[in-house]
Amino acid sequence: MNVLVLALLVQLAVAVPLSPAGRHGDPLRGPAQPCDKARCKLPSCRCAGTDIPGGLAADKTPQIVMFSFDDGLRAIDYERYYSKAFPNRNNPNGCEIGLTFFVSHNYTNYALLEDLHYNHGYEIADHSVDHREPTTWWQKASKEEWSHEIMDQKAILEKWGNIPADSIRGFRSPFLVTSETEIEVLHENKFLYEATMGTQTNYWPFTLDYKSPICNSPATCPNNTYPGLWLVPNINYRQSSGYPCAMLDACTAPHSQEEWFKLLMDNFNDHYNDNRSPFGVYAHSAWFWLGEERLAALSAFLDKLAIMKDVYIVTHSQMLAWVQDPTPLDKIGDFAPWKCPSRPKPRCNYKTPSCYKNYGEFSLTSCTTPCPPRYPHYGDPDGK
Ligand SMILES: [Zn+2]
Repeated sequence: MNVLVLALLVQLAVAVPLSPAGRHGDPLRGPAQPCDKARCKLPSCRCAGTDIPGGLAADKTPQIVMFSFDDGLRAIDYERYYSKAFPNRNNPNGCEIGLTFFVSHNYTNYALLEDLHYNHGYEIADHSVDHREPTTWWQKASKEEWSHEIMDQKAILEKWGNIPADSIRGFRSPFLVTSETEIEVLHENKFLYEATMGTQTNYWPFTLDYKSPICNSPATCPNNTYPGLWLVPNINYRQSSGYPCAMLDACTAPHSQEEWFKLLMDNFNDHYNDNRSPFGVYAHSAWFWLGEERLAALSAFLDKLAIMKDVYIVTHSQMLAWVQDPTPLDKIGDFAPWKCPSRPKPRCNYKTPSCYKNYGEFSLTSCTTPCPPRYPHYGDPDGK
């Protein structure tokens, strides 16, 4: 071995252990390789797999449930549905349950988002500005276009929803269309997680330091390495028709409350009685509007979970905090990321917002004043 090769090996040996601390912003390091368990370690790296983080036994592992809802969020959706199902429910540690909203811009009431984030601790995540059609637009979108859709929406959430930049950590793609360019933009902008890709295997979340086994299609695989960016798998629902569905809206709609409840409970049990991988309940506000039996089924499901002392309903970020620091059930009462947070109050009451302005097709509702001259949009999150 010559001196030059030896020097290079020494450099590599030094560089690799240092990489977890400074993962984000590293230049891409070429095609992702199969995961190396000896090098990929928590808290910043995890190989894809069905193994429970930390090597915990299933009966020592809290069953995490994540409720998340996508698209614009209006006050009427909240008041008619969400507010009747979720507030005033606690986890076994006595703290309020957490939800995650993946929010796109149009129709969203930003004063309501501020209320939900500060009064209830709900996580506000990114779901693009425009959610534009056709769906194929997203497959072909350039890096500049993805950057605007993701980062302009982040700026809108910060400015008009008063959501702190460092708590907007996740992204889910419109129509669940992903691309390598999207992943690249999320990684470069230090997002914590991507929450779009579907699978029928009970994977625990993992990082994209190494090759992902989950792809929507070969064209949308994350082929390169994106150290430190977590992939939160969208584990599809099993249903009686035999066809898996990615979100409740996409399932062959059961007709009754009992059938919806059974769909939720059977799929929950597929996680609970298996490897306790986080169970996601994914839907859009529109799902509730298609029949009152849905809210009733969801409430009955929540009632059932409420009596289980090993089930925690938390936000996506709280779930990842656990994966990074797997804490057994007998110590979970002291797990800091799931403790009741103390937050400032929202700056206004969303029912009497400080800014309300109609711009024609859309209106803006916010606690930020003054209302902008133009409706905030793609390329102009301030509405200048
Ligand atoms: Zn959507």
